[in-house]
Amino acid sequence: MTHLDAYNRSISYLRISVTDRCNLRCVYCMPPEGVPWRPHEEILRYEEIETVVRAAAELGISKVRLTGGEPLVRLGIVDLVRMLACIPGIDDLAMTTNGVLLSRYAPALAQAGLQRVNVSLDTLRPERFQHITRLGRLDDVLAGIEAARQAGLEPVKINTVVVRGMNDDEVVDLARKTMEAGWNVRFIELMPVGNGVLADEECQDNVVTAAEIRQKIEAALGALEPAKVSAGNGPSRYYRLPGAKGTLGFITPISEHFCYRCNRLRLTADGQLRPCLLSDQEIDLRTPLRQGAGVSQIKTLLLKGIESKPLQHHLDECWMPGNRVMSEIGG
Ligand code: SAM
Repeated sequence: MTHLDAYNRSISYLRISVTDRCNLRCVYCMPPEGVPWRPHEEILRYEEIETVVRAAAELGISKVRLTGGEPLVRLGIVDLVRMLACIPGIDDLAMTTNGVLLSRYAPALAQAGLQRVNVSLDTLRPERFQHITRLGRLDDVLAGIEAARQAGLEPVKINTVVVRGMNDDEVVDLARKTMEAGWNVRFIELMPVGNGVLADEECQDNVVTAAEIRQKIEAALGALEPAKVSAGNGPSRYYRLPGAKGTLGFITPISEHFCYRCNRLRLTADGQLRPCLLSDQEIDLRTPLRQGAGVSQIKTLLLKGIESKPLQHHLDECWMPGNRVMSEIGG
């Protein structure tokens, strides 16, 4: 049975950042030189993550997503998937990745029990891809998406952060992919988190709202129809272009927040439980884990996190979390 927080929200979903390291340096996420990596001993070990997930499952949390940093750069990630996939009560195990290493890992991940992947991709243009990610090659990600589909890690969802002047002229091309290639594309409004390069003093200058994106797509490709998706119960609203196999989704943390139906807890790579992405409040799980805490003690701490989950974020008042960059929390 799931637990309700103080605002009657049923908490069923745990997002775990398995590493703070990333093989890309996306311009809106990190400065060009990257951020200092945490020393290995600060990062939760796989056995410690397993204990947290067992505790979460006993509290009715049934969905787990592995993220990062970039989860596929952590050594032995397939082993972690295998460990978590057999925990009773976890019936949805997914990963968010930049896709660069996905073609190498997709078959092994699927075999280990991963059910699906979300791939972050902000552009379809090779040169722009290099500019945005500073280190990556578009072809690697496209091969990763295809490999994931072939391995049955479906539905593959493509997550696109839309930033004014960076890629807002590509939303129609990306939407077309739902018709031409059956992609499921979700557009995400930029969040001013962690003093990222684009989180400027004007607060929301770079944000392109879902309404604006939708208008551009409808003007070019026709009216969107509401659609259902077969997996996941996240914050996205889904639509379909007439005749398209794939769907289009909009995630609107800025223009229309969805805090009232937030069902998530987050675990940072260094073992801090974050009841809300956009609040600095954290509960230390690593210290008790290293002092020998087992499933029942971790359950007590998770319950504390559920009970203290804030009602909503305060980005509209220009308040933003300051203690972490996005790559440490996992998005
Ligand atoms: N490396 C993995 C990836 O690229 O998917 C997982 C971690 S990454 C931090 C997770 C997601 O957060 C990505 O889709 C990324 O585009 C998104 N993201 C990073 N900074 C963001 C921001 N300021 N606002 C909105 N989304 C952001």
